[in-house]
Amino acid sequence: MVLKKLDKMPVANGNSAVLHRHLTEDFLSLAKGEGSHLVLEDGRKIFDGSGGAAVGCIGWGNKRVAEAVFKQILESPYCSTIFYTTKVQEDLCRFLVDSTGGKMARAYLVNSGSEAMEAAVKLSRQYFLELDPPQPQRTRFISRERSYHGTTLGALAIGGHIARRAKFEPLLMKNVSKVSPCNAFRGKFPNETDQQYVARLAKELDDEFENVGPESVCAFVAEPIVGAAQGCVPAVAGYFKAIQEVCHKHGALLILDEVMCGMGRSGSLHAWEQEGIVPDIQTIGKALGGGYQPIAGLLANHKVIGTIEKGSSAFVHGHTYQGFPAGCAAALEVQRIIQEENLLANVREMGELLSRRLHERLGDHPNVGNIRGRGLFWGIEFVADKETLTAFPESCHLAMEICERGLKEQYGLNVYPGAGSANGILGDHIIISPAFNVRSEEVEWIVETVGHTRSMAVGLAN
Ligand code: PLP
Repeated sequence: MVLKKLDKMPVANGNSAVLHRHLTEDFLSLAKGEGSHLVLEDGRKIFDGSGGAAVGCIGWGNKRVAEAVFKQILESPYCSTIFYTTKVQEDLCRFLVDSTGGKMARAYLVNSGSEAMEAAVKLSRQYFLELDPPQPQRTRFISRERSYHGTTLGALAIGGHIARRAKFEPLLMKNVSKVSPCNAFRGKFPNETDQQYVARLAKELDDEFENVGPESVCAFVAEPIVGAAQGCVPAVAGYFKAIQEVCHKHGALLILDEVMCGMGRSGSLHAWEQEGIVPDIQTIGKALGGGYQPIAGLLANHKVIGTIEKGSSAFVHGHTYQGFPAGCAAALEVQRIIQEENLLANVREMGELLSRRLHERLGDHPNVGNIRGRGLFWGIEFVADKETLTAFPESCHLAMEICERGLKEQYGLNVYPGAGSANGILGDHIIISPAFNVRSEEVEWIVETVGHTRSMAVGLAN
């Protein structure tokens, strides 16, 4: 049998052996990444304005990272973490723990954000089993509506993403209840101050604890800046302090999901740094390895780790590929580059420019309901009516149309779409999350391109 050369493989889905996300639509065949561009097999170049789903953070084709991974694979491609560790895993976890100013005690590395969330859920349960005296009755979780925490069954159950849950609802654990997210644009009453809004949400959480029995809850789970599920929505000032107080009152842990908004995307390495709180457990992912290797993880504080150390001293959880050396090598090099090139300062500076220019260019657009975000993590939510904030009907596929036919086909700009209808009452949104080394002229071009009437008109014409 003669195999066709891989780079000449037809991309028509009907001929594909891949169980693609969609079985009949064709996919563009990606040949390589070059700096801030994606290059297709047919030579077309696309500017990557979102780093995939906020994954890419130092751009594509970085030789230093490639060489670090290559060297690691030659030296030690795999490590069975039952008996061994590697220097690269130790170094990466040390870097992560130190990056929290010692507030976190240990890091645990897996291969995807979903796995990190599964581990966080199990670690919080194990913490209560090993407390002295133990609290085995803590089996419940509280999270928020219109959230996404991953696609595996545990993570999906914690999340509130309606469309992604729907078909699997009977399989999902039932010990999770949901409260309202903190979304000033959608959730705050007219004339309500930020303080009143925060107090209302904190009360709702407190009531939910009382409702399910405060001693039954392991943890409250939330994303500091809601990414894919709502389109880069930061909480209003004081929210996280208030909800952490509620968690403390009831003895529950606070798990923050920083898979999408963390590792520098928000302008600080950890998004919680801007909230004046420290979670008990945090998860990280996408920008950890910047798309060079699949790597994600969790960090746990001294309270959690100290309790398990004194208890069984073993986290009852493990994966064949946890602490994968090549993944650690990639992440360590990506993080070194971010530090050496002072890219977090660029995230803040370019983030301010992006925010200002988006507001100037699009703030008055009749179908732009809200522009929000932090660092290089910005979302634009569209509305059919700016007075009533009514969303466009699902049949418009607005975000997808704007991204695919409006921006990618006409201008070669890649941003990340989110369908509001898939997740409750929100309008469609797009996410702009370029690499941390994006330049000001590129930011200007992204804004001009998104603001171009033809980009928007494609979606709005339907
Ligand atoms: N948590 C958040 C906030 C995410 O945005 C995602 C993925 O988009 C996940 C968890 C799951 O990560 P992964 O897709 O790597 O499993």
